[in-house]
Amino acid sequence: MDLRQRRQSCHCGRAGEVCLHYASRVLCGKHFIGMFRKRFRRTVGSHRMIRKGDLVAVGLSGGKDSTVLLNCLADLQKDLPFQLAAITIDEGIRGYRARTLGIAKSECERLGIEQVVLSFEKEAGGTLDKAMSDEAKKGRESDNPLPCTHCGVLRRYLLNRGARELKATKLALGHNLDDMAQTVMMNIMRNEPARLARLHAPALKSARFVPRIRPLMMSPEKENAIYAMAMGIEIERVECPYARFAFRSHVRKMLNETEERYPGTKFKIVNAFLSMEGALREKYGRAIPIKECSLCGEPCSGPSCMFCRRVHDA
Ligand code: SF4
Repeated sequence: MDLRQRRQSCHCGRAGEVCLHYASRVLCGKHFIGMFRKRFRRTVGSHRMIRKGDLVAVGLSGGKDSTVLLNCLADLQKDLPFQLAAITIDEGIRGYRARTLGIAKSECERLGIEQVVLSFEKEAGGTLDKAMSDEAKKGRESDNPLPCTHCGVLRRYLLNRGARELKATKLALGHNLDDMAQTVMMNIMRNEPARLARLHAPALKSARFVPRIRPLMMSPEKENAIYAMAMGIEIERVECPYARFAFRSHVRKMLNETEERYPGTKFKIVNAFLSMEGALREKYGRAIPIKECSLCGEPCSGPSCMFCRRVHDA
């Protein structure tokens, strides 16, 4: 076998189907699935994300990452006794969310997992589309005009509240390696080391906060899509129409270009963050004194929580 042939074949001799540029390896479908699952379990195990008896609530949007996460966790249940539930947030984004809501519902039914759906419309007085069109009507750039900022505050609040109401001990998010590398870079580019220090550990320590885990944080986004296709998991490729407004989309483009030229960059960014995390937390990770929101009672650092400030102008 010459070198070229070897590069195009999996180590088992089968034709290579997936190229891992960052590792200069090619894998057949079977070995790709094996590698993906092994890495998933290693990430869960090495960061002690799930313990026996946990009730893990998955933030399930119905997009490829959270749907793959739900499937991988359901597979892990064969070897580790813990319970699974799903929380889906309907932000109310026309032309985008309806399809992923359908996928989320059918995956939960197929896997026999309890699903709770919470909508911005019901819980926050209006859809994201409405909030954005209200802002546009005011004819001003609001204090925080980006849709993702508004969406993120409401979604995080509802996911945490929903997980707590389910009595979940962990809230699992579908953040992949690309998301993690972007978040690390965004915090550096904004000079926000304290936020970076708290990426894994919230500053507000409260029993009302359900600890978050990110079991796919070492899985590149593209590989989540390949795994979904290989396993016959339905995925949706339409991107949220608001994504282009986000600072994240610029960082994503920049990192994708760098990864293309220097394979392995995203792994290196996340691994560098993980190795500095302890020192960062020591320097910036001080717990912030907890108060209770005067309107909803949720934990917060000021007189009212971010959710009530946005939804009730508190
Ligand atoms: Fe919300 Fe932004 Fe994500 Fe769209 S891209 S779902 S607006 S956070």
